[in-house]
Amino acid sequence: MASRSEGMRVTVLGTRGSTPVSGSDFSVFGGNTSCYLVETGETSLILDAGSGLINAPVTFAHPPAILLSHLHVDHLLGLGMYGRISQPEATTMIYVPASDAQDAQDSLAHLYAPPLWPVQLHSYSGNLTIDALPRAMRYGEIQVETMSGNHPGGCVCIKLRFVRKSVVYATDFEHGAEASTRLAEFSRNADLLLYDAQYDEDDYEAHRGFGHSTAREGIKLMERCGAKRLLLIHHDPRSTDETLLGRERALGCQQARYAREGETIEL
Ligand SMILES: [Zn+2]
Ligand SMILES: [Zn+2]
Repeated sequence: MASRSEGMRVTVLGTRGSTPVSGSDFSVFGGNTSCYLVETGETSLILDAGSGLINAPVTFAHPPAILLSHLHVDHLLGLGMYGRISQPEATTMIYVPASDAQDAQDSLAHLYAPPLWPVQLHSYSGNLTIDALPRAMRYGEIQVETMSGNHPGGCVCIKLRFVRKSVVYATDFEHGAEASTRLAEFSRNADLLLYDAQYDEDDYEAHRGFGHSTAREGIKLMERCGAKRLLLIHHDPRSTDETLLGRERALGCQQARYAREGETIEL
């Protein structure tokens, strides 16, 4: 629960891209894939359902919603093991980029059905509602807006606003003249910008078109849109703590850092 009635709280539950990793080389930044909990006094939203979802709270004062940026498996694979969806009295809303509710349900059923997963989502005991993520909606106290990003197969950037605070989640986003201009406009004066920095400059050259970006592009975007803080996310599974700490020291920007699993940012 956020302690101040006008504040937002963002907790990093998983920030790895592509696949989870484990071991002593990943103890600082964490190994779970994309999952972020955003809370105000009364409302809880979970951004993406990567393996980090296993560390999300199960009990909330009001039913939480899980907003999915897209359907790549690193953003979905925590759903089947999330404790809340097995609780008979618990309601959880899931919003998926899709044309309608049926399309949203069908999309999740590609992964959550035999032979890829033993049971379908509607077989869990919890009360799950799966719907299409609209361009804009209000969920509890939080105003949600989305924007199409730049990623193979599509991905949405998500903006959350509460009173005077705003957070923009731009995961799986590849910079580019047109896309970066739209994202800068979308992120204008955000209090916190979460931005895909999977690659350094050399990695990026080898992975153009893969749908990811760099810390340097994140800092450019932050300066362009007037965001107050930058949290770099979607760490490459090959980037060890040593690699990321080295990159972080080289950022040369006080307001920017690489996200660490387990940290909470109060806005
Ligand atoms: Zn991803
Ligand atoms: Zn992706």
